[in-house]
Amino acid sequence: MGKYLGPVCRLCRREGVKLYLKGEKCYSPKCPLVLRKRPPGELPKKIKSSLSEYGLRFREKQKLKRLYFVSERQLRRFLEIARSEGGVIGDNLISLLERRLDNVVYRAGFARSRREARMLVSHKHLKVNGHYVNIPSYLVEEGDKIEFVLDNQELLENAKAKKDKVPQWLKVDTDAKTIEVLRLPKGEDLKLDIPINMLYIIEYYSR
Ligand code: SF4
Repeated sequence: MGKYLGPVCRLCRREGVKLYLKGEKCYSPKCPLVLRKRPPGELPKKIKSSLSEYGLRFREKQKLKRLYFVSERQLRRFLEIARSEGGVIGDNLISLLERRLDNVVYRAGFARSRREARMLVSHKHLKVNGHYVNIPSYLVEEGDKIEFVLDNQELLENAKAKKDKVPQWLKVDTDAKTIEVLRLPKGEDLKLDIPINMLYIIEYYSR
């Protein structure tokens, strides 16, 4: 997500939902969102004011941006592409986000969070069709073969444990440490990890 270097749990607390940015901790009782539900900086007794129409749309946009750990610029660029593709803009946008290389690595289980996946890609631990790629926003295409070249037992175990959760558009071989893109994501593959109103996001950027 661009240059955000602060504590990521703060982002979840701000949005009031789990954004799964810290791997295993996100699924444990140690998750700060479980321990402490109010947004960062808000006093316990402060009455939460209701959001304006603009505020509602802004928050949905922030949720999506933080869930996929992408920058504002990237989200705007993807929305432009999604608009030009025809069909349902919201679905096109999610499909583009799902096709990002860091997301594919996360979905395949070779990273415990999208944040970790982003770091793995940036540090050149992945090859796409035989070539090193260090661009997290790289968009995979049907037929692409991705190879995980890092020798990390923990991440390998994670991929093995998550084998049943790999989306159908990807094929993972944990022995060969490869991911194959069988087709582009569509239909059920576009179901978000958390509920987000995509219409609000499109409206936010149409102002
Ligand atoms: Fe932190 Fe993960 Fe919980 Fe978010 S879901 S607050 S990143 S532990």
